[in-house]
Formats: sequence, C-alpha cells, structure tokens
Amino acid sequence: MNTLALSFQSLELNGVSSLESTVNVHLMTDGRSALLFDTGYDEPASLHTLIAWIRAKKVTIQGILVTHAHPDHAGGLLTLAETYCCNVYIHPLERQSIEDKGVSLRKRLAAISWRDVCAGDMIHLNAYRVETIETPGHTHGHLAWYEATTQTLIAGDNATSAGTVWIGPPDGHLAHFYESLTRLHALSAKTILPGHGESIEATPSFFVTMLKRREARSEQILNQIIRKPQSAHELAATLYGSAIAGNHMWAALSTVRAHLSYLSEKNLIACHYDRAKKVLMYQASGI
Ligand SMILES: [Zn+2]
Repeated sequence: MNTLALSFQSLELNGVSSLESTVNVHLMTDGRSALLFDTGYDEPASLHTLIAWIRAKKVTIQGILVTHAHPDHAGGLLTLAETYCCNVYIHPLERQSIEDKGVSLRKRLAAISWRDVCAGDMIHLNAYRVETIETPGHTHGHLAWYEATTQTLIAGDNATSAGTVWIGPPDGHLAHFYESLTRLHALSAKTILPGHGESIEATPSFFVTMLKRREARSEQILNQIIRKPQSAHELAATLYGSAIAGNHMWAALSTVRAHLSYLSEKNLIACHYDRAKKVLMYQASGI
C-alpha cells in the first residue's frame, strides 16, 4: 500500500476573549485523515472559521491534541470534540483545569473521549505518528508534539515568532520552562509551528538562545534588587516602562512575578511586607 504524503497546515484565528488576539491551530494530515492541534477560541466567528477550514480540506479528524487549557488554545474544544466525535489527547492537569472551569458544562465535558497523555506517548495518524513531549512552564501540564520524519515541532506556547512567550504564575513556572526549553533543544526540530505568529525555520540554537535571553532577564531583575529593595510593581515599571498599559501591564507584572519566584526558589532573594508602602518588597538574600 502506498503511504500518503504527510503535510502540516496552519490557520490563524482571531478572538476577543483572551489576552492574545490571534492564535494558531495546526492540522497534520496525510490527505485523508488529520490530527488537529488546538481549537482556538470559544467564539462563534472563530469556531465557524475553523470548522469551515477543516471542511474544505475534506479530511476526517482522527484526534484533537490540546497543548494546554488556556482559552485561546482550548476554548473551542467542547464544540470541536462534539463536532468530530474523536479522541481528545491532553495532559491530565490541563484536562482537570478545563473541567474545573466548566462546572456548568459538566455533562457535556464528561461525554468527551478524553485520552490523558504524557511524555513519550505516541499518537498515530495511519502510517505516521507524533511523540508527546512534556513541556511544563507556560502551564504545568503544557504539551508539545514532535513528528520525526519531517522534524516538525508543534510547540504550543513554548515558542512564538510574535514577541515573547508569556510565563506568569499561577499557571507559569520559570524553572520548569527552562527545563522544557532544554528538552526541546535536544529534539533538533527544523520547523516549529508555534501557538502564535508565523511558523519558524529553527536554527540549531533556537531554544538555547531563548533560554539565555530569559536567564539574562532573571539576572537583570536580581541586579535591580541587589541595587535596591523593590516591589514587583516598581520592577515592572523599571523594566517595561510606562509604554505598557492595561492588560499588557498585567502580563508584564506577572512575568516579573515569575522571575521573582524563580529567584526566591534559588534562595537568591527574599521578601517582606512593607507596612508603610503596603506591598511586598524584594531584597537580595543575606542583606
Ligand atoms: Zn497559553
């Protein structure tokens, strides 16, 4: 039997219900069947666009793979799972996160054919398969998938060609993200299909460069604190300036908090409550 040629196709969806105003979904297809990676927003326009796009491909969706539970990636999951009646592959922590938020949808969520997956699990598409890569950091149960014959990585929010990947508590954990970047580097992916922005033709040092840039930010924040004890707000204002407003300031603040947690875990900084300022102040350990 001839093996059908494998291809990856991506669609950028627009949404208004998330911090991110666009998100990518990806299809891995042999022309007859397909795996769908992520589901976009739970918004009528986004769902309509995605379902029409899949219909035009004339492929059978064999499975939906969810990188993580954030609403720009998994918002449309319930509708898509009901539309295609296929297995949904997801990390248990992300499944629980969706189930916890969707209490009013419990009956519909219970009808989904969930398939919990973790590191090394293979998901097959006829003659092809993708390997599940655990990449905690952006969220605790974030997954990526790797297709070895084309050296293609479906990266979710581990990589982006548009700005930087957001890591913020309570979902995000910087030390885990650094470990995940090291794991992704070892794959030697040639093509990275990110959750946001255009596909990336990856250089061998792509993830190492990302890692070094982040670590430099941690170092920069540590140096700021060594110079003078500061609150998270003061650090965010120093690092990101007044140019950042609204939701983006919240994201900047959250990013700073992720770095502060990372530095605290390494016992490089400590914090105390400042009664006069009514904020947590961070200072270098041992000072
Ligand atoms: Zn996300």
